[in-house]
Amino acid sequence: MNFRSNTNSLFSLFNKARSFLRLASTSSAAAVASSSATSSPAMEDGAKLETLKTNLCIIGSGPAAHTAAIYAARAELKPILFEGWMANDIAPGGQLTTTSDVENFPGFPEGILGGELTDRFRNQSLRFGTQIFTETVSRVDFSVPVPPFKVFTDSKLVLADSVIVATGAVAKRLNFPGSGEGPGGFWNRGISACAVCDGAAPIFRNKPLAVIGGGDSAMEEATFLTKYGSEVYIIHRQARDAFRASKIMQKRALENPKIKVVWNSAVVEAFGEGGKAVLGGLKIKNLATGDVSELKVSGLFFAIGHEPATKFLGGQLELDTDGYIVTKAGTTQTSVHGVFAAGDVQDKKYRQAVTAAGTGCMAALEAEHFLQEIESQKGKSD
Ligand SMILES: Cc1cc2nc3c(=O)[nH]c(=O)nc-3n(C[C@H](O)[C@H](O)[C@H](O)COP(=O)(O)OP(=O)(O)OC[C@H]3O[C@@H](n4cnc5c(N)ncnc54)[C@H](O)[C@@H]3O)c2cc1C
Repeated sequence: MNFRSNTNSLFSLFNKARSFLRLASTSSAAAVASSSATSSPAMEDGAKLETLKTNLCIIGSGPAAHTAAIYAARAELKPILFEGWMANDIAPGGQLTTTSDVENFPGFPEGILGGELTDRFRNQSLRFGTQIFTETVSRVDFSVPVPPFKVFTDSKLVLADSVIVATGAVAKRLNFPGSGEGPGGFWNRGISACAVCDGAAPIFRNKPLAVIGGGDSAMEEATFLTKYGSEVYIIHRQARDAFRASKIMQKRALENPKIKVVWNSAVVEAFGEGGKAVLGGLKIKNLATGDVSELKVSGLFFAIGHEPATKFLGGQLELDTDGYIVTKAGTTQTSVHGVFAAGDVQDKKYRQAVTAAGTGCMAALEAEHFLQEIESQKGKSD
C-alpha cells in the first residue's frame, strides 16, 4: 500500500488498461508458443471447442500459477496457463493487482507496485514458453480413470496429463460510503484487507487503527497491528463475548493492553483526515441503540474472511469446510492423483505472495514427477 502519493485512481485505471492490453499480448504469445497440438474440435452446448493437448494445464495467474509455469516451462513440460478474464472480479495477475506497493517480496528492496510485479511474473512465464490464454476455466472433468484430465473454457477444451489449480482466493470487503476506490473512497489509502501486507506502512505508525471481524484472523491481525498502532479497536457486530475466534486467540488479543473491543457495532461510513485523501476516521453505529458516533483512526483492516475460487471444480476435489482445496500435508497433492493445488486456494493460514510462489514451485516439481511416473508406467505396459 502506498500512502506517499495519491495515485489510487490512476493506479486503478492503469490496472484496467493493463488487463485490456494483455488480450493483445496473449494472442501473440499463443502464436509463438508450441506447447500444444490441436486435434478435431469437441462440442460443448452446441458450440465448437478448440481442443488442445498438454502435459500440464495451470489454472490461475497469481504468484503460485506463474511460479509453477516458470518451473514447468524450464523443465520443458510446455504448459498451458489460463489466467482468467476478470475471474471473481480480479484482473489477470491476481490479488497483487489490487494493491500498490509490495514491500515484502524478496528481491525488491525499494518495494515494487503489485501490478508491475505480476507483469514480471507473466513475462518470465512467457520467456520460457508457457502458452497463456486470457480465459476463465468454467469447468473441469477429473473423473477419468487415467489422464488426460479435461479443462474447459468457453472456447477451448484442454486435454491435460496433469493439472495445477492456483486460482487463489478473494479477500471479502464491506461496502459503505468511503470504503471503495476512486474519489471519496479510502481503499488503499487507509483501508486494507491484509494487515500483514500493509500494517507496517508509515501512515499507520503510532496511530489508532481498527479491525473489523470476530474470527481468528481478526484476533491475529489486531494483535499483529499492535506492533505499529498506538491502539487497535476490534469492531464487532455481536454483543459482548460473541467472537467466533478460538478461546486462545481471543485471550491473546483481549489481554493485549493496546486492544479495545467495540461491541455491537458496525461501520457505516469512512471519512478523510482534514481535507487529505487519507483515512481519518469512521462513523460507527451501535446496533443496540442506533446511535452513531465517530472513531478517529488512520487505518481500517477488513478481517472478515476470504473466499477461495473453487466453485468451478464442481466438487471434484476434496475441499475443507471453508471451501479450500485439501492437500496432503507437506505436498501440493489433492484428492485426485495428478491434480495439484498451489497458493491461496489451498492456504488459509499464510496467504502471502511468497508462500504462494513457494507452493507453485512445489506443484510444478510434483507434476513433473507425476508425469515421469505415468510415462514409465506406459513404457512398462507397451
Ligand atoms: C489488497 C491486498 C494486498 C496484498 N499485499 C500483499 C503484499 O504486500 N505482500 C504479499 O506477500 N502478499 C500480499 N497480498 C496477498 C497476496 O496477494 C496473495 O497471497 C497472493 O496473490 C496469492 O497468490 P495466488 O497465486 O494463490 O493467487 P491470486 O493472487 O489470488 O490469483 C489467482 C488468479 O486466478 C484467477 N482465477 C480464479 N479463478 C479462475 C478460473 N476459473 N480460471 C482462470 N483463472 C482463474 C483469478 O482471477 C486471479 O487472477 C495482498 C492481498 C491483497 C488482497
